Amino acid sequence: MSEQTQSGERTAPRVVVVGAGMAGVQTAVALREQGFTGTVTLIGGEPHQPYDRPPLSKAVLLGKAEGSAFDVDFEALGIGLRLGCEVLGARPGDHELDTADGPVPYDVLVIATGAEPIRLPGTEGIPGVHLLRTLDDAERLRPVLAEQHDIVVVGAGWIGAEFATAAREAGCAVTVVEAADRPLAGALPPEVAAPMAGWYADSGAALRTHARVERVEPGAVVLDDGSRVPAGAVVVGIGARPATAWLA
Ligand SMILES: Cc1cc2nc3c(=O)[nH]c(=O)nc-3n(C[C@H](O)[C@H](O)[C@H](O)COP(=O)(O)OP(=O)(O)OC[C@H]3O[C@@H](n4cnc5c(N)ncnc54)[C@H](O)[C@@H]3O)c2cc1C
Repeated sequence: MSEQTQSGERTAPRVVVVGAGMAGVQTAVALREQGFTGTVTLIGGEPHQPYDRPPLSKAVLLGKAEGSAFDVDFEALGIGLRLGCEVLGARPGDHELDTADGPVPYDVLVIATGAEPIRLPGTEGIPGVHLLRTLDDAERLRPVLAEQHDIVVVGAGWIGAEFATAAREAGCAVTVVEAADRPLAGALPPEVAAPMAGWYADSGAALRTHARVERVEPGAVVLDDGSRVPAGAVVVGIGARPATAWLA
């Protein structure tokens, strides 16, 4: 990959990768592995060294691992890291990004901003309501598990299943509320998802299907049938959407 300048010489283009998750990191590493010699800059909105998310709902949550940083020597690979730097917009005509730290020029832009969790409407600002997407989220949830609260998990998807299992392992009482008639209803057909209901029972978590959240109050989740489920903490795992607002 090279580009011709006005003076006629060919230079390797500047690649800027936005998003320092699995996709962004692997793209930057693969460029180097395949011999790309131009500038590679990896921009991540989070302040942490780039990390893998799957351990967040397992070893990191349970305090069995401190973190899950990728085992990549970015400096040795000649990959420039700009962490804690949110990209606010792209101006393709100018080949420039706008970031919280000022403009960043690029020749080739890689968009790898992944996904952001969907929040439960009406829960903004209510204490004790958590998401599980980032290292910071996992670190906030560790003491919640240690205190062994009654926990309500909203959503019986993958995050809900993993968090419920970890919380049970930590000794918490866990109720999982799911609006659909079974776990993973949006992702898998019934014959595949059916055995997964057993995971909750096996772990000692109570699974309530056809249970839609009406509202969350401090200390309780109120369902649309009027029942109140005590909740020292609430973990919301109702899905994710592409993190592309910055491209709007
Ligand atoms: C708790 C948890 C457990 C999981 N467990 C598993 C598992 O066991 N198996 C499995 O296959 N998958 C699992 N996943 C899913 C897997 O982690 C994702 O598929 C994967 O993270 C996707 O990687 P990505 O790089 O595309 O996006 P992301 O991981 O979302 O990374 C995107 C990065 O871009 C950054 N970013 C976003 N917007 C901007 C911006 N405007 N400016 C700068 N930076 C920005 C974000 O901060 C983020 O670091 C799990 C996910 C979570 C949250």
